[in-house]
Amino acid sequence: MGGISNARPLACGRGASRRAWHPHRLAGGMTELRRPTSPATASGLRVEAVELRRIAIPLVAPFRTSFGVERQRDVLLVHVLGNAGEGWGECVAMEEPLYSSEYADGAQRVIEEHLLPRLFAQDHLDVTDVARVLAPIRGHRMAKAAVEMAWLDAQLRSAGQSLAAYLGATRTSVECGVSVGIMDSIPQLLDAVGTYLEQGYRRIKLKVEPGWDLEPVRTVREHFPSGILLQVDANAAYTLADADHLAALDQFDLLLIEQPLPQEELLAHAKLAKVVRTPICLDESIVSAAVATEAIEMGACSVINIKPGRVGGYLEAAQIHDLCLARQVPVWCGGMLETGVGRAANVALAALPNFLLPGDTSASDRYFRQDITAPFILEDGRLAVPSGPGIGVEVLRDVVDGLTTSRRVVRRVG
Ligand SMILES: [Mg+2]
Repeated sequence: MGGISNARPLACGRGASRRAWHPHRLAGGMTELRRPTSPATASGLRVEAVELRRIAIPLVAPFRTSFGVERQRDVLLVHVLGNAGEGWGECVAMEEPLYSSEYADGAQRVIEEHLLPRLFAQDHLDVTDVARVLAPIRGHRMAKAAVEMAWLDAQLRSAGQSLAAYLGATRTSVECGVSVGIMDSIPQLLDAVGTYLEQGYRRIKLKVEPGWDLEPVRTVREHFPSGILLQVDANAAYTLADADHLAALDQFDLLLIEQPLPQEELLAHAKLAKVVRTPICLDESIVSAAVATEAIEMGACSVINIKPGRVGGYLEAAQIHDLCLARQVPVWCGGMLETGVGRAANVALAALPNFLLPGDTSASDRYFRQDITAPFILEDGRLAVPSGPGIGVEVLRDVVDGLTTSRRVVRRVG
């Protein structure tokens, strides 16, 4: 099957067309969601202290992308202690500013010196007002997202409501894909893909870069059953001058090409979408609902990868979901090598109706031997959506203590 155009947002590769991922069909005609404006607590949350924990958690195997290799994850956890209970957030910023300009040390400093003082200046604060209070601080969305997530978790726990229910989830489990890093050799890649398919993953994403693109994709396509859902992610490694080269990927019936060009180059992506038949999906470029709207309207993408950390939090992520649903642009949930804390919240988000493609919401053992929550386990290619209050998982304090590299507690003064 061919003849797929970027001008038709819902048309896609052969796997997708067979799967009928049109929101009107999959979401029962729903094109907008109504969710409560705030969790059901009377006056928001009064936070007394915030614990900032850094942990170093080893990956089961090095993960190589076009921007670098990761061997362990340096994670900043935000733990809020409030009048009505506690909540956890996970900052997705990485140790070095390679995926985006944010990085873990910088995010921690911004939280301590710029975000928490503004939040502590409020007596009680509802989570739906956190972004407004932090708006004068430009950028630093991953830092803001981590704080907002912890606030949201605390408020939802005290209200006895799950994040999934609050966001408007319509599923109790989500289909999972897996992201396969750049390998040293093709045989190694085939081994990795074969193992993930055996484990039940419903979609394979290959990381690509110049010099590691057509050949690995061709080989995977030829080696495995033709119906497997396959897509690629360049993490901004190409330029518009590579358009014809990228168009050579069209022959492989990919679901999408993710973020081929640099983050800021929306217009270049729109031009590329006229040359390449495979749908363009944006990741790094989409930093807010406003940018998502612009990107869609200028034809820079026909699919969006939503990562809550990248866009400033789960509430903004839900807004992006909604605007894409209204425009019939499918979305899926990306991953930033989250621990069980971030994974729990991502799985809740991915249960919303317009998440029409399997996400990078892989099982815990894809990344870690020992997660900091009970592990997320793949069952028939799906992960169960946590249904308990807040993010619905408990942090294993002993495990966190054993992985902790630094701990700071910032308290409300007065
Ligand atoms: Mg990506």
